Amino acid sequence: MLEKQVNTKSEHNLLRDAAINKPIHSITKFTTLDYPHHLASIFWFAKCNMACPYCYNPQIVRDTGTISLDEALQFLQSRKGRLDSVVLSGGECTLYPHLEAFCEAIKTLDYKIKIDTNGSNPQLLTTLIEKNLVDYIALDYKAPQDKYETLTRYRHFERFEQSLELLIQNHFPFEVRTTLHSDLLNIHDINAIIESLHKKGYQGTYFLQNYLHVEQTLGATKEQQNQFDLSKLTPLVPIELRNFR
Ligand code: SF4
Repeated sequence: MLEKQVNTKSEHNLLRDAAINKPIHSITKFTTLDYPHHLASIFWFAKCNMACPYCYNPQIVRDTGTISLDEALQFLQSRKGRLDSVVLSGGECTLYPHLEAFCEAIKTLDYKIKIDTNGSNPQLLTTLIEKNLVDYIALDYKAPQDKYETLTRYRHFERFEQSLELLIQNHFPFEVRTTLHSDLLNIHDINAIIESLHKKGYQGTYFLQNYLHVEQTLGATKEQQNQFDLSKLTPLVPIELRNFR
């Protein structure tokens, strides 16, 4: 099972280090913001196979988990009738080989499932979609191919691309989003992303999320210095701005 879904030695090591029996770092018990039109909890899975410098969740990415999947299911059982959905976020939840079984168990409790992912596990996404074990996906388009590895420290752009194409071809409900730090990505990079979405036939909204500075990020990122001219965005797909003034 592990070998089937975890593709690289470093990802294998991540899981070993993450104490696989307790993969969840922490739980946000209630939110109306993360999964639009739903009352949700967020399960924050520990560890990630990327290392984006602006990552807002360094503790979640570095630390091991503290909550087992059974404990998380007991929590959902206790919230039945008060919540209707759960967001599997992180970190990168698709690193975990038990995620398929976990989603099956969540579905028996009749919750909707949203997954936040960097798209590095198209194989697992395929399975979850085929088995109706996920209802909505938020997919991070971190950077265009030529900057992908530099930004994320992860070299398999083709896996992200497979995930994107899978979701488009299946007409699956999902959104694509990019966190913009203007010293890391410029207007040409964002327009390259937009053009590739357009070329691949993406029909949804592209969410461009402005980086909001916090002191503790994974790469000790500084505040943005460069100007980003929103008027130069190529409107080939619908674009929605988040956190821009
Ligand atoms: S922002 Fe990057 S490093 Fe942080 S959890 Fe997402 S993919 Fe991983």
